[in-house]
Amino acid sequence: MERRNGPGWLEVICGPMFSGKSEELIRRITRFQIARIPVQTFKPALDDRYATNEVVSHSALSVAAESATDSAQLLEGVRDQTQVVGIDEAQFFDMGLVDVAAQLAGSGRRVIVAGLDLDYLGRPFEPIPTLMTRAEYVTKSLAVCHRCGGAGMFTQRVIDSDELVVLGATDSYEARCRFCYDPGESHQPSLLSDEG
Ligand code: ADP
Ligand code: MG
Ligand code: ZN
Repeated sequence: MERRNGPGWLEVICGPMFSGKSEELIRRITRFQIARIPVQTFKPALDDRYATNEVVSHSALSVAAESATDSAQLLEGVRDQTQVVGIDEAQFFDMGLVDVAAQLAGSGRRVIVAGLDLDYLGRPFEPIPTLMTRAEYVTKSLAVCHRCGGAGMFTQRVIDSDELVVLGATDSYEARCRFCYDPGESHQPSLLSDEG
């Protein structure tokens, strides 16, 4: 992909689940669409929670999207005329996404990446943290803590599972603030009978 000077840059939108990352991505992409700037939005193939041909927010906003199995396939899918590339749920892509995003920005495209910065155990969730260091613009979104209404910055798993990826979302996770977040909580089976 040819490098050239232009409006190319990288924007990252990060935060926990329910913080409005997809909403914000959809808002930014839709503005370009309305201005008839060619856009493409991608999401990882494993995230088929709602629909495979669109990105949908918890507040039911949506934008057309293409699935990619990995960062290489995403790069191949970008058309020559595309000026704005949106990527949702970017934490489910491989580390190669860092170079792909840099390549796309270097070719004069605006790249807008949304994803979780922390996993359910509160650990940095690559490739988002590295993408943040390579981005011109970083937005960290907060959700409303489901327990106390505070600044929800963590994603609390409220079902009992050790899998890094448990899709299905809304009833498996809550947004929590630093005081209400407890990474050990999902391992207490009693919660299931209490709450579920
Ligand atoms: P994300 O992509 O970060 O998971 P979405 O953009 O899909 O978030 O959804 C954000 C929307 O989710 C909010 O506008 C609101 O309607 C809804 N929502 C549900 N629970 C919460 C919460 N605890 N805090 C904030 N918004 C919430
Ligand atoms: Mg989302
Ligand atoms: Zn709280």
